[in-house]
Amino acid sequence: MPHVHWTGNPFVDAGLAALAAAARVSTLEELGAEHIEQAVKELERVLLSDQALGIGVDKAFSGPKKALRQVFPNSELDNPSNWKGRTPKEKEDNARRKFQDALRSELNKAKQCLELEEAGETCFACGERRPKIAMETRRKDKMPLFEGIVNFYPGFSHGVRVCGLCSLAVRFLPLSTMLAGNQNRLWFLHSQHLGLAATVARRYGWEHFDRLITGNKALDFYGSWETAGEAGTVVYLFCELLNSFPDQLRAIYRSGLPSTAYVFSNDNRGGFVQAIHVPNELLAFLAKLQIESKNAFKDFWEGLLKVRGDLREDERKTRAGFVRSISNRMIAGENIVGMCLTSDPPNLQGGWLGHRLYLQEVRGMAPEKLAILERLGISIAASEDAKKLVTELVTAQYHQLYGLLLGYVRKGWLSHQEFYFLLPPNAHKVAGEIRDVLLAVVYEWQHCQQEGKEFPRSTFDKAEASPDETLRRIQEIGRRLTNNLPNLQRWTKELTSARYAERIRGVYLNAVRHGAVGFEDYVFLAPLQDQRAMWLLRDYLLAFLFDVGRVELPEDEYPEFGADEVREIETF
Ligand SMILES: [Zn+2]
Ligand SMILES: [Zn+2]
Repeated sequence: MPHVHWTGNPFVDAGLAALAAAARVSTLEELGAEHIEQAVKELERVLLSDQALGIGVDKAFSGPKKALRQVFPNSELDNPSNWKGRTPKEKEDNARRKFQDALRSELNKAKQCLELEEAGETCFACGERRPKIAMETRRKDKMPLFEGIVNFYPGFSHGVRVCGLCSLAVRFLPLSTMLAGNQNRLWFLHSQHLGLAATVARRYGWEHFDRLITGNKALDFYGSWETAGEAGTVVYLFCELLNSFPDQLRAIYRSGLPSTAYVFSNDNRGGFVQAIHVPNELLAFLAKLQIESKNAFKDFWEGLLKVRGDLREDERKTRAGFVRSISNRMIAGENIVGMCLTSDPPNLQGGWLGHRLYLQEVRGMAPEKLAILERLGISIAASEDAKKLVTELVTAQYHQLYGLLLGYVRKGWLSHQEFYFLLPPNAHKVAGEIRDVLLAVVYEWQHCQQEGKEFPRSTFDKAEASPDETLRRIQEIGRRLTNNLPNLQRWTKELTSARYAERIRGVYLNAVRHGAVGFEDYVFLAPLQDQRAMWLLRDYLLAFLFDVGRVELPEDEYPEFGADEVREIETF
């Protein structure tokens, strides 16, 4: 027996979800003729209501030049020639009848798709072979965005051949369609997880329209989001759903099925469609945060995505700009913590709990690393020189960040293994995110102090990672230097203040001359073709000497990171 299933065409699938929501089935395969009939009755009730047609309310939803035209231009309800008659009542009845006739014909063909086994023609939308009599010819008035191929339909026909089931399903698309954050752009979520897709259709489609009909208000798409931008609306929707249906939402990220938001217009003046893929990691993060702490989840949601309705116009603009860029970054899985820092008063918008989990789930930062940064950030915030240290962190140029972190090793806040772990070889640009995270911890800590709250410390237990080849080599060389160099203190001071590659080589050769290290150690530390590696290895070696070798230098002796040539490599 033929059955209903997802098609891969987002417009058809979103319609199927709304149809299934009205039929109250839990899988598409369950959908039979009687379910579809019941759903069609519901669709008629909503789209042909007085509140949809603009009878006795201030505006119309369907009908000439109305909101629904953006989805289906020139559909039966929008075609002025269908609104003919002597009295308003006659006009309405004619338009209603035209729509019902079309819908009934599609309903019959949809039933034939399910009842007849004959494999006559292939449906352009779902790819199934369907009986010839169950096919429709479709153009953009009833199938969004078919216009791109308007002059090139197969065989010079007047449209593409679509089966009755797909044609009928698309009729339900308005029940899955919403408005994006105060921009009047239409969008819908394409997910082949029926639990999610049907929930969206039920809550923002059927129930929303029912509320308007009951309250005798003109129908319009749901759009009461207190956020900004398309990406903002999409992430906001997931937060809202998580808040109301946490269990179902968790099932979605666990299923791993993709969710894509389609922002579209099927306007006669020219349609467009934009796909926004929602990464599963982002959904997993939001769901896990909500399990971890409802308050932290709310803080993150409101702090990063909400644009309150009561803001002054200029405040609203600034806030909307922030929400727009932060949500775009979230959808792209990018670093967001730096954008959420405000220094006066110190604050981390969204809260540390949320950011810590985002870093772990979306940015893929190891929990060990986060625990180190958290501990280090608290050391900075709680120290007597907090003010000076924070200013250094905020104003440091990229190439100075390695030196700052070495400074923390000298203070005993960071071991040489941890230094290596935070700034591993070949991890370009990582230092910038580390700075952001440290400041986030500092600001959150200061904020908690001011509010008399407890800092939400990670419960992660430190696991010692075994050193890799490079770190082991550094440790061996460091030990040889500590044991063999007659004046380790002065030698380290020279290495610390070296500003040019030549000088560093000179310091190393000195150690070779004293027999403290071998020539192959020298070649390892100062590879001829790779200046960047040389500076990096020097920093690892210094970290070892400060940490294990217990070398102490005067407070103001900060290691320089590289001469101008290297600085350029580092600040790309
Ligand atoms: Zn099938
Ligand atoms: Zn089809």
